[in-house]
Amino acid sequence: MVYLFLDFKFRQELCKIESLKEKATRKKAGKFFYCANCHIEYEEEDSLVHNYTCPECGESLSLKDNSEEIRQTDKDIEKLREVLVEVNSEIEVIEAKDQKTRNRKMKAEQRKKTKERAARKKEREKIANKEKKKIVAKKSKKKIKKGKK
Ligand SMILES: [Zn+2]
Repeated sequence: MVYLFLDFKFRQELCKIESLKEKATRKKAGKFFYCANCHIEYEEEDSLVHNYTCPECGESLSLKDNSEEIRQTDKDIEKLREVLVEVNSEIEVIEAKDQKTRNRKMKAEQRKKTKERAARKKEREKIANKEKKKIVAKKSKKKIKKGKK
């Protein structure tokens, strides 16, 4: 249960990192414009289409400096990476523990099997010995018969 939860968390963190990375790349590559009135950000293409005015209020857009946001995004990515590594080490601890339990179970199973096999071997030997005695008895009987002839 814990394993599944952590595995899920790991994937979730990975997804977050990927989307943040994509965001950072987008912000680094493109120019963005901003309406100070509506607090809305527009991509360059959209701004161009609206002649660098806000489609909501008509105010002229200003070029937005995204360097702070990019830095913050990079920081967030760094943090998420640390979480990811931590979750991974938690998973590894659990996996190692599970492996030990499994090994112990396997050893217990092995011992049980060995015991069972030993018991079966004893039983088999007992039966085989009985049968051997019968064979020997039959043979000696035959010998006696032969001797009589
Ligand atoms: Zn506006």
